[in-house]
Amino acid sequence: MTTHRRVFDAIVVGGGLAGLAAAQRLSGHGRSVALVEKRDRPGGSSALSGGWFALSGTELQRRAGIEDSDELFLADMAATGGGYADETLLRALVAGQADAVAAIEQAAAWTDELKVSAGMSVARAHLVRIRELLAHLEREAVAAGAEIHLGRAARELVTDGSRVVGIATDDDVFVGGSGVVLASGGFSRSRELLDLFVPDQAAAMPYGGAGNTGDGLRMAWMLGAGLADIGHVSGTYGQHADTKDDEHELLTANYLGAILVNAHGERFTDESESYKVLGSAVLGQPGRTAFQIFDSVVRARSRPGVPLSDMERLEELGHLVSAPTIPALARELGIPPDRLERTVARYNEGVSGRREDPFGRTGLVNGVGALVPVATGPFHAYAAVTAMTSTYGGLSVGADGSVKRVDGSHIEGLFAAGEVVGGFHGASYMTGTALTKALVFGFRTADAIAAG
Ligand SMILES: Cc1cc2nc3c(=O)[nH]c(=O)nc-3n(C[C@H](O)[C@H](O)[C@H](O)COP(=O)(O)OP(=O)(O)OC[C@H]3O[C@@H](n4cnc5c(N)ncnc54)[C@H](O)[C@@H]3O)c2cc1C
Repeated sequence: MTTHRRVFDAIVVGGGLAGLAAAQRLSGHGRSVALVEKRDRPGGSSALSGGWFALSGTELQRRAGIEDSDELFLADMAATGGGYADETLLRALVAGQADAVAAIEQAAAWTDELKVSAGMSVARAHLVRIRELLAHLEREAVAAGAEIHLGRAARELVTDGSRVVGIATDDDVFVGGSGVVLASGGFSRSRELLDLFVPDQAAAMPYGGAGNTGDGLRMAWMLGAGLADIGHVSGTYGQHADTKDDEHELLTANYLGAILVNAHGERFTDESESYKVLGSAVLGQPGRTAFQIFDSVVRARSRPGVPLSDMERLEELGHLVSAPTIPALARELGIPPDRLERTVARYNEGVSGRREDPFGRTGLVNGVGALVPVATGPFHAYAAVTAMTSTYGGLSVGADGSVKRVDGSHIEGLFAAGEVVGGFHGASYMTGTALTKALVFGFRTADAIAAG
């Protein structure tokens, strides 16, 4: 087979949010760039995602009267990460927000949806029309001369002996002497890597972009790259077991007031915790399933079309179970009716202040928001499992996205951005920080290459 040699200033591996941001920024800097994407269309997990971005100090927050600051955003991320996240990276993320805001603005991809979600002490999750943002970045990159090669998987990194100078696909070498950006996503679709790093999570339902099999991690390891946060990778709770590959079906009714019960009709955790923490807890329950149980008050908080809160869509799919009373709901679910009735009664006593919550739940999400009783019929249930949507551990990088070796030295010419990178999330996850980091660090790696 003939090997073609194609020469550019820089190469980007992967066409999700991080890769498209890097390609757009590099071409905007006047650099010739090729993006190779293994699937026949770009998008990856980014296109499947809910589209929530964690951002502080935005115009939308100001209009909604939300008091937030970069310091509070930083402190919340550090607390959510349990002290494991790399503070240098978190500072860089917060400092780079302005770039993310500008890109969303240029793509005209804002919505008015703003909410408090996992890991946040104030409403900081901004819903963005993610597919419009991706399309905008791709359009701009191509208009500025970037080449996008679909159906091409990077197989290995090419070096000149001391620095990375390109990548090899099955039949081409793409030379990028100024730098290579790995933006190949995580390894949620690699059973082998999940078994290796987090065997206790391997029972989670595989999800995320079909191409996300950890290729970037493996290629960088070959050159001695270090890893961060990898042991903390965990599944996300809240998806129906019959979810299709391209359907977003996550529901977190617990953050709106629902309780979670197992197949015995018992609660087992503080439902306001991050859905990553809940993911691990649910893997330990019978049938690895937890039912979100709520009443008509919480049902009325549904937001059609808004990921994580859209109950209408779940009803259309036939995945929401409803009944006039709690015992009738329990019978529909195959849960002992007397147990569920007792669990709900005890929970309601906690909400009214007559007893302390045995799991320490004090708010709707992350301790924020007033609890409501499960009291007004009809009652509803959503049976959900833990899905491996994303793997928030990965390559060890510096604040400019340059990949570090196990000993902390930098691999010359190699950069990484997005889910392939570790160090941002530590032990747990704040909603929206994965997309924000993909966008901010896609730009940052491009700036570092252009400046180099
Ligand atoms: C259902 C779901 C909902 C989510 N919701 C949110 C949310 O609301 N907010 C949030 O912050 N995060 C969310 N996430 C996580 C977030 O979407 C991802 O972490 C983020 O999109 C990753 O972006 P990325 O550019 O790094 O990777 P991706 O978007 O996954 O892109 C990686 C690309 O690289 C390609 N690729 C892989 N290997 C190769 C190779 N060898 N050669 C060439 N190309 C390759 C892949 O095919 C893929 O297209 C969600 C994830 C899922 C699955």
